[in-house]
Amino acid sequence: RRAMLAAFRDRPGETSDGRRIIIEGNIGTPGDAVRVMELGGEGVGLFRSEFLFMDRPDLPSEEEQFQAYKKAVETMDGRPVIIRTLDIGGDKEVPALDLEKEQNPFLGYRAIRICLDRTDLFLVQLRALLRAARYGDLRIMFPMISSVDELRNAKQVLREARDLLDAEGVDYNPNVKVGIMVEIPVAAVCADVLAQEADFFSIGTNDLIQYSCAVDRINEKISYLYRPLHPGVLRLIAMTAKAANENGIECGVCGEMAGTPGMASVLCGLGVTNLSMSASAMPAAKADLAAHSYAECRELAQRLLKTASAEEAEDIFAEWRGE
Ligand code: PEP
Ligand code: MG
Repeated sequence: RRAMLAAFRDRPGETSDGRRIIIEGNIGTPGDAVRVMELGGEGVGLFRSEFLFMDRPDLPSEEEQFQAYKKAVETMDGRPVIIRTLDIGGDKEVPALDLEKEQNPFLGYRAIRICLDRTDLFLVQLRALLRAARYGDLRIMFPMISSVDELRNAKQVLREARDLLDAEGVDYNPNVKVGIMVEIPVAAVCADVLAQEADFFSIGTNDLIQYSCAVDRINEKISYLYRPLHPGVLRLIAMTAKAANENGIECGVCGEMAGTPGMASVLCGLGVTNLSMSASAMPAAKADLAAHSYAECRELAQRLLKTASAEEAEDIFAEWRGE
């Protein structure tokens, strides 16, 4: 099986009849990109930039951020690298910001909400990203978008960052693609609106499941309610992918679900075009895809979408996997 997976490493992601599904790696530090390359990643679908801000007393400077983003992009050698802007709050603490403790941190002051409030911090990160985009196919992704207003406001700050760099005569790439994470249920439901103003989508299933099923993703007492195959979750994913396809933009999945064995076929069947996962899961995802045609994946997805419960869907999935 090891040798079999090694053979998939150097192949692109595709179904047995050639529908392309781009297989990418999730990274937390620029150094992680090396392993994505070694294991045949076709890009980085999610670079969690939080690592630069956590476990330290101060904030990273524009130069430090620029170097980190540039390194990731250079390591990926021309392949796309999606860098997510600061996604903190919830369970992720940043000592330098000294944020107030909240009763419902996952529903609180976090991610893009902090960035749109603290544009001083946001501008520094966006400037570093625009500058690093000269070294490869860097794309910017905003987390926790719940409405088109937030996307517009974030893009406005991006324009301000460009104006500042222009005024200072600093080199940057003005043609960066700007996408969003779809991880709040209303964003999935309104994906048709968002798709008109985003260059790509990436579905964050970790949070999408948490919010749509109202189940804290880190609370073990209720983890039995955390079901990726809940038909409601699958319908949200299908809606998002449909809106993306109709507007000609890519729709990825970058939550844990993307790298779960067998899920590549399900997500492909739901209309997803990119899957980003931990590097070690990439060869198996390619093998899963290559074992079935696109029509088979679509048929599986249609059956799952029509189920009455997660349990029923899980039975169908287990049978499909031959378990
Ligand atoms: C997600 O929510 O699925 C995701 C990929 O982001 P994170 O796990 O960092 O919240
Ligand atoms: Mg998330």
